[in-house]
Amino acid sequence: MKKIKLENSNIHKGNLILVNGEHPIEEKYAANDTALVNIDFWNQEILLDYLAAKELSHLMNELECGNEIIPVKGYEKPTLPVSSEQDKEHFTGLAVDLSANEIERQSKGFPKKGICKEFRKLASKHGFIERYPKAKEEITGVEYQPGHFRYVGYPHSVIMEALDITMEEYLKTIEEYSSKEKAFRFRDKENLYEIFSVKAKDDNSTIVEIADGIPFTVSGNNIDGFVMTLSLKLQRALT
Ligand SMILES: [Zn+2]
Repeated sequence: MKKIKLENSNIHKGNLILVNGEHPIEEKYAANDTALVNIDFWNQEILLDYLAAKELSHLMNELECGNEIIPVKGYEKPTLPVSSEQDKEHFTGLAVDLSANEIERQSKGFPKKGICKEFRKLASKHGFIERYPKAKEEITGVEYQPGHFRYVGYPHSVIMEALDITMEEYLKTIEEYSSKEKAFRFRDKENLYEIFSVKAKDDNSTIVEIADGIPFTVSGNNIDGFVMTLSLKLQRALT
């Protein structure tokens, strides 16, 4: 068994941090410029978290969309005082606003047709979700924004899409799965994922035990603890 110590400062870091009106991101935890990278081949001005940038560029390559889709906003530095107008999710480096590059950019939207529809089909496979859907405005507290995508990481993105739930709802769901024995299970062709939440202890002594040799990731939830994701290789069926 491997003992993993989870530091309370990490509650505010990771792909699954929830950032909304109720759970703002503190300035000291906002992405630090050095961990961010340029999303190359379009716009040197736009920075994203390393993994988010990598997956976005894989997605774009797979889509072969050239410059039909253009990123218009990535990481934003918090400027004080933070106004209610600012979308604080951009402080994390995990959010990107995209726009369809239609005829001379006259249309700046991200429609549900054409290349944007194709993008949506591939997004979750690469860890992205549409963060502010129209039908979920009451839950997210944010007006419909068809071009705002958030990197949450695979397989979380695929699960949220399959269940048609927002990050708010997903983290609430995962809260019910509170140990390795009671994990939320998701399986794809190669792996079985065990996802569960761990509440942080006040005295900074949160320890999770994981069997040796099991790959896992940890993310804070920006609320009160962590989400653990274990990935177990499925035995290939003999053919
Ligand atoms: Zn945005």
